Amino acid sequence: MKKIELHLHLEGAAPPAFIRSLAKEKHIDIGKIFDEAGNYAFDDFWHFLKVYEAATSVLTRPEDYARLTRAVLEQSAESGVVYSECFLSPDFCGGRDLGAWREYLHAIRETADDAGRDTGVTLRGIVTCIRHFGPAKARETARCAAEAAGEFITGFGIAGDETAGKPADFAWSFDMAREAGLRLTAHAGEWGGPQSIRDCLRDLRVERLGHGVRAIEDLALVDELAEAGTVLEVCPGSNIALGLYPDWRAHPVRALYERGVTVTVSTDDPPFFHTTMQNEFDRLHAVFDGDDAVLDRINRNALDAAFCDADTKARIAKLLEPGHV
Ligand SMILES: [Zn+2]
Repeated sequence: MKKIELHLHLEGAAPPAFIRSLAKEKHIDIGKIFDEAGNYAFDDFWHFLKVYEAATSVLTRPEDYARLTRAVLEQSAESGVVYSECFLSPDFCGGRDLGAWREYLHAIRETADDAGRDTGVTLRGIVTCIRHFGPAKARETARCAAEAAGEFITGFGIAGDETAGKPADFAWSFDMAREAGLRLTAHAGEWGGPQSIRDCLRDLRVERLGHGVRAIEDLALVDELAEAGTVLEVCPGSNIALGLYPDWRAHPVRALYERGVTVTVSTDDPPFFHTTMQNEFDRLHAVFDGDDAVLDRINRNALDAAFCDADTKARIAKLLEPGHV
């Protein structure tokens, strides 16, 4: 099955071996972020954020991001992904300096075009501010996003520690991105409850929510999301790996879908959470009792909700047609 992925952090998709080899080349000691098997090791979400930032510290040049982009697209292609939207963070790409950001973005985009041809994966970028870095840095990130808005950079979002600050603190940045023509998404309803989703929708006016799964704790909110067509970028493997839910059966993806919410499925930071898009779809198949039509619907929801232009969407839609090789 050819797949559409909407919620993937570029650095979070970095294979551990890739990060290790870059650390070795640059003589940077980040050994303690790996376990004995060579996988990323962390205890909880907040420790995960620290490990994530340590791994990202070896990515110091545009060419590192070029290599990373190729590695990530190759990994996505192995799972049958044909279209992917990646979160890009100017915080990590040149420290929010506009000139440096342009160079990083050029390297990522050039590789996305080349590796896209080789792997068959079309990549688009969503510039993302980091919530726990605060609203002032988010404003600088929004300027980077607005400057880059176009065919490749299609959206703006916010990630990081959902318990830091409140959505209203970031409204200025989201307004700026919206005025630049960017589509909007925000992480909410993962570590924050239903109120975090309501606040986010009211103050940031996003059309998609990263996770949003904790809406299930307030069925009136679930009905509002269904009615409004708000799209959830659900990442079950991520939620389970971080202990938000004990297992796939306890995860609300099916309940949200059955109550009419527009559900999509992604991997978030796949090597960190020992998952792949193929794995997510295999597990989803079991959760929906082998109903292929539901998996197809979820995949098409993702294409409908993609931030790319209409021509790109039509081209990808053809790839999903039955019988297309
Ligand atoms: Zn995420």
